[in-house]
Amino acid sequence: MGILKNKIENEEWIDLRKFCSIKIGGKGKIIFFPKNKEELSLLIREFGEKIIPLGLGSNIIFKDGEIDKIFIHTKNLKKIELFEKNGFFYIKAEAGVSFKNIIEIVKKYNLEGFEYLSGIPATIGGAVAMNAGAFGVEVFDILEDVEWIDNNGNIIYSKKEEIEHSYRYTRFQKDGFVFSATLKLKKSDKDISQIIKNHLIQRNSKQPLDLPTAGSTYKNPENSYAGLLLEKAGYKGKRINDIGFSEKHANFLVNYGNASFKDLMNLLQSAERDIKNLFNINLEREVKIIG
Ligand SMILES: Cc1cc2nc3c(=O)[nH]c(=O)nc-3n(C[C@H](O)[C@H](O)[C@H](O)COP(=O)(O)OP(=O)(O)OC[C@H]3O[C@@H](n4cnc5c(N)ncnc54)[C@H](O)[C@@H]3O)c2cc1C
Repeated sequence: MGILKNKIENEEWIDLRKFCSIKIGGKGKIIFFPKNKEELSLLIREFGEKIIPLGLGSNIIFKDGEIDKIFIHTKNLKKIELFEKNGFFYIKAEAGVSFKNIIEIVKKYNLEGFEYLSGIPATIGGAVAMNAGAFGVEVFDILEDVEWIDNNGNIIYSKKEEIEHSYRYTRFQKDGFVFSATLKLKKSDKDISQIIKNHLIQRNSKQPLDLPTAGSTYKNPENSYAGLLLEKAGYKGKRINDIGFSEKHANFLVNYGNASFKDLMNLLQSAERDIKNLFNINLEREVKIIG
């Protein structure tokens, strides 16, 4: 630990509320900010399964108290390149590149394929790991390949087809650190900037963006919507102290000020129990609870 602490940018005993969009959580023992593949691989070789990768923290909830994990943040992994091959345009981006950066490129070159993913607060690493998606499109629809690091520190290159994935799930949620990913897009004859603009207006009108949130709490069960089930069960707008399911979108938890992890867990457990009793459906959490 000592050598790596001197060599790679880090911070100790961090306030985890600063590293997630819902602003809940305790203290993290140490966070590293590697700036290249070699530093990342060194950290993984040293700490293996103790590592928690972090992007924007927009689908994460940290537990209270002290969390004895090694956090690795991708803020220094931001290289991005655009190239053309056989009539397609490829964006190769390191894990810490945000979707906002991708939108700029997509708009500038009028590229098609990414427009319905715009507006998701994500880094490339987090979005690949979660197979993020919206409006019927998911990251794996436009993914070409991923360069990732396994728990032993080996750097591996995989084509999309070789990576286990499904709705909001990929193998990287169990093991593997996404270092970079390549998206495959094509030149469009539509006005992509205008499509994105309209899409963002529609998206933003449905989400509680004025309060800290972690996005969708639950995955949609087959043939249904988690938000609709929560609403039918009376959870839209339901609160325990400062944590609640949003009035605007029942599947979004919101932090009204100083929400506690304990209240949050009580609310989730109550919702899960009621949905099971009312509809015989086991809701599956999309948010990642860490600690
Ligand atoms: C307002 C709001 C709206 C949202 N809308 C959507 C939506 O429309 N669709 C959707 O799918 N999601 C949505 N989300 C959830 C979230 O934006 C996505 O899950 C996003 O992909 C998370 O990216 P991130 O960089 O914040 O990852 P984080 O939240 O930091 O991490 C998410 C998970 O991925 C892991 N991870 C992060 N980086 C890496 C890496 N480099 N390698 C391996 N694992 C990694 C983390 O350990 C964690 O398990 C929304 C969230 C908010 C707050």
